[in-house]
Amino acid sequence: MTVLPDFATRAVHAGREDLQALGVHALPIDLSSTYPFTDLEGATASLDALVSGDKTAPNPVYARLHNPTVARFEDALADLEGADASVAFASGMAALTAVLLAARADGGHVVGTRPIYGTTDHLLTCELMGMEVTWTSPDGVADAIRPDTALVITETPANPTLALVDIEYVVAQADDVPVLVDSTFATPVLQRPLEFGAAMVMHSATKFLGGHGDVVGGVVACGEDWARRLRRVRIATGALLHPLAGYLLHRGLATLPVRVERAQATAQILAERLAGHPAVLEVAYPGLGDRTGLVGRQMDGPGTMLAFEVDGYERARAVLRAVRTMTPAVSLGSVDTLVQHPAGLTHRVLSDDAREQGGIAPGLLRVSVGLEGAADLWRDLEHALEVSLPTEAAV
Ligand code: PLP
Repeated sequence: MTVLPDFATRAVHAGREDLQALGVHALPIDLSSTYPFTDLEGATASLDALVSGDKTAPNPVYARLHNPTVARFEDALADLEGADASVAFASGMAALTAVLLAARADGGHVVGTRPIYGTTDHLLTCELMGMEVTWTSPDGVADAIRPDTALVITETPANPTLALVDIEYVVAQADDVPVLVDSTFATPVLQRPLEFGAAMVMHSATKFLGGHGDVVGGVVACGEDWARRLRRVRIATGALLHPLAGYLLHRGLATLPVRVERAQATAQILAERLAGHPAVLEVAYPGLGDRTGLVGRQMDGPGTMLAFEVDGYERARAVLRAVRTMTPAVSLGSVDTLVQHPAGLTHRVLSDDAREQGGIAPGLLRVSVGLEGAADLWRDLEHALEVSLPTEAAV
């Protein structure tokens, strides 16, 4: 019987198989924009192979067709997601755009579940991609499918309300329509959507995969058929991940399990304390009385993201002004704790109706818990909440 290495071992070693033969310890960064050839026929054959979707060829020919540094990151991420392959892009939105362009050939309709990241919602709703969208709840997927539905898109945990979606249930309803899961909030440490029948899993790699707030990227892990289609779109549209970004993302994977586990422990503490604070109306965190039963079955833990609601916009603004250890900023998944206001920032682009449908209230704040000490973070949050209360009600 073959014993598969532990996830943490794979996170450290995946995609580095050729380093020993290369005689190097750190990941090499290949910044070439073009690659010299010695015989024209060989270069032509490589070009033909890459533009038809092959993963590699003897000569990369040109950086838009292939880059070895990015390819190592792709191998590593595919390994962690249990996928045949992964294809990396310039950002999470570039990754999603590539999926839509690839799916376009199968039909002009997409089914999406709300809530979902604001720009994902916008990209589909504005029909920029020439595809019509039907928004529904995870229960309504089967009814929303049409003969021309090319793709079902869901996100779990969902941004920003942390709503969990049962991937297996969505896949069953989608029948033979492929399902794309945005698993950015979970990371492959906590959730591997392909195990539940999804055709593709995407990440804004900008977030946990990089993990240090210094790189923008996106990636889709999937079977080789989809990967070929996505590589062709990437070559044609040029939405490349820069090799330096590929290096940083790959380096980030090695510490991903440790970062997620540590931040998750802190998130649980903060969520519990927030739930007991008089200034907090509601806390959304999968580790607090998960009614879906998905934590433990679909997710290996409740994660590092939480959201909480205070009484209205002004109080939310007061919390943001008062925090000192936490940084008021969009994005997530960094070593430091970030807090932001979804209605005013990440989900501002949505219509009022869409925000309401997604449960994105004016008093909602979203926290991406980082690696600071839990006691320091709670002190910061507790002080900010007290400041947010009217003086007579202050605790
Ligand atoms: N998906 C989710 C869940 C996100 O939170 C984001 C960005 O915040 C994106 C996709 C888009 O990724 P990017 O900003 O890397 O384009």
